[in-house]
Amino acid sequence: MDDCIFCKIAQGKIPAKRLAEDADMLAFPDVEPQAPVHVLVIPKKHVPSLHDVQDWSLVGRMHALALKVARDQGIADSGFRVLINTGADGVQTVGHVHLHLLGGRTMLWPPG
Ligand code: AMP
Repeated sequence: MDDCIFCKIAQGKIPAKRLAEDADMLAFPDVEPQAPVHVLVIPKKHVPSLHDVQDWSLVGRMHALALKVARDQGIADSGFRVLINTGADGVQTVGHVHLHLLGGRTMLWPPG
């Protein structure tokens, strides 16, 4: 998608610190971190939201990449949260499916 910010990050057209990646997905820091560690994991292919996922193994592998990043960032043992905001009530603001990895402090529950 020409006007998708996360596609541009995946393509290297917008700068981001590439924390981990493979042929299909990329992890980079959230620009407005909500926790000491706040990383986004995206598929490199444009997928607007969970509704549009066709290859569900990719979503599983995005979690595996998030776990690797959690270990790399030193928050695997203290704990962390992964979530995918979807739709209006889920407060999805970027129309390219992404997994949030949050940690480095105790996460609030319920998140509000
Ligand atoms: P969501 O509300 O789940 O759609 O989350 C979108 C996230 O993308 C927000 O946490 C934003 O801070 C983050 N974000 C938007 N633009 C960028 C960017 N250029 N680099 C990194 N994170 C971004």
